[in-house]
Amino acid sequence: MANQLETALKKLGLPLTKQAISIGSKWQTGQGESLQVRSPINGQSLAEFTMASADQVAAVVEQANYAFEKWRTIPAPERGEFVRQFGQKLREFKEPLATLVSWEAGKITQEALGEVQEMIDICDFAVGLSRQLYGKTIASERPGHRLTEQWHPLGPIGVISAFNFPVAVWAWNAAIAWACGDPVVWKPSEKTPLTAIACQTLVAQVLAENPNVPPAVSCLLVGGADVGQALASSPNLPLISATGSVPMGRAVAQTVAARLGRSLLELGGNNGMIIAPSADLELAIRSITFSAVGTCGQRCTSLRRAIVHESIASKLRDQLLSVYERLPIGNPTVDGTLVGPLIDERAFESMEAALNAAKKQGGIVHGGGRVVGNVPEGGFYVKPALVEIAPDAQIVQQETFAPILYFMQYDNLETAIDIHNGVPQGLASAILTNDVREAELFCSAAGSDCGIANVNIGTSGAEIGGAFGGEKETGGGRESGSDSWKLYMRRATNTINYSTDLPLAQGIRFEI
Ligand code: NAD
Repeated sequence: MANQLETALKKLGLPLTKQAISIGSKWQTGQGESLQVRSPINGQSLAEFTMASADQVAAVVEQANYAFEKWRTIPAPERGEFVRQFGQKLREFKEPLATLVSWEAGKITQEALGEVQEMIDICDFAVGLSRQLYGKTIASERPGHRLTEQWHPLGPIGVISAFNFPVAVWAWNAAIAWACGDPVVWKPSEKTPLTAIACQTLVAQVLAENPNVPPAVSCLLVGGADVGQALASSPNLPLISATGSVPMGRAVAQTVAARLGRSLLELGGNNGMIIAPSADLELAIRSITFSAVGTCGQRCTSLRRAIVHESIASKLRDQLLSVYERLPIGNPTVDGTLVGPLIDERAFESMEAALNAAKKQGGIVHGGGRVVGNVPEGGFYVKPALVEIAPDAQIVQQETFAPILYFMQYDNLETAIDIHNGVPQGLASAILTNDVREAELFCSAAGSDCGIANVNIGTSGAEIGGAFGGEKETGGGRESGSDSWKLYMRRATNTINYSTDLPLAQGIRFEI
């Protein structure tokens, strides 16, 4: 297995000695704390190097600002061509990059390939977008005047990302930002720096073929929360796009707000699904299982709460438990594995703590606990848990980043929607029903209060074409498709007078 990783690293051209900072294709050594990178598969050391310090952030941001001066004046379709070439590079290196994602984040091969495919998809989207950064023309109330909107590049974007989508989240931001004319300064999770170094290495290859592109359109800083805070406080980064836990988002949002900057927050979810009496049970089993145990429950959109009609609850529970019994848990790079490891010991401890709390609060816990046989030593492999529990139990309010599915019952749909919406987070949601009235109610203003509301599919696995993000404590941000690009640009409203007169708006008379 280690050979598979070595081959991937070689193909990707990762330098043997890792450095924490990169401006385009130039690397610099960090002056922060030492970082030991370990694989969640077996705990093996993947690299050791010094992270960037907070003091090193300003110089990198300065370079990104110089790059912005030029990048913003390059026509958007030409910027799109750079993104197109990067998308091609990703196609070429899809497999080795996915292998590295598996080794560093613990994803099964299929999901790791899917993550890189998502990067390719967003590049394609951004290429098209580079010819569609439309502004409106508005009918002016004044004769001989034209009222119009233009969208201009905003400036360098600071991107802070989480471990569980180590490369896709950056790509969602970078592809759109580049098309919009913005350089990107990326601080990846310190748990997954190698995938970030690999991405930067691939960008450098594209930069080498495009001397017209200022290299600092892509900057990388591997560092901890202090580096994230330094980015958040930098007045030269007009937008901070931060993905991670709610406490992280709260800290970043306050720092950015203190300087009146713009933040795009993609924070924790506590995603629910209502399973109605008319639901197709086979589809229910498949969609619940993928959403609840996929990525070992470590997606922001992972299904955490099943709200099941009482008439089908025991049948659905029994069928789910029988599927859970058969789940192939183990090395994520082995074909057929569906559940890989948790990211680290801390994640395992929070799963244990949540299950203990659930028991104390009256929950009946099925599954859970560490798996030790037939899995690589040194990794934290767990049995996904299904917990029968009352909807008002306190633990149900909390996102535990592990495969725990709280299984609750309801008697009428209004109650189910109340239970569904009665948590602080608001990311992804779903209803399984064959009743069009129930489906439409769930998607209506009186239904799910989340940023994503699905019918007859699970909560996880969004496509890049839609705007992605959630409400309430999830932070309100939207990135990826639809019109999310507008956050990465500034809007200028232009009034152009082509008459010889000077009529004032609102008919105001001001004669001199
Ligand atoms: P985390 O909050 O621990 O870390 C995320 C990133 O924030 C890392 O790069 C980290 O170094 C940085 N960071 C942490 N504290 C910071 C601070 N005070 N100031 C600045 N930066 C700081 O999250 P994680 O464990 O890597 O990821 C799991 C969490 O991310 C879950 O809550 C999950 O739901 C969420 N997530 C959300 C989305 C989404 O799109 N909504 C996507 C992926 C993950």
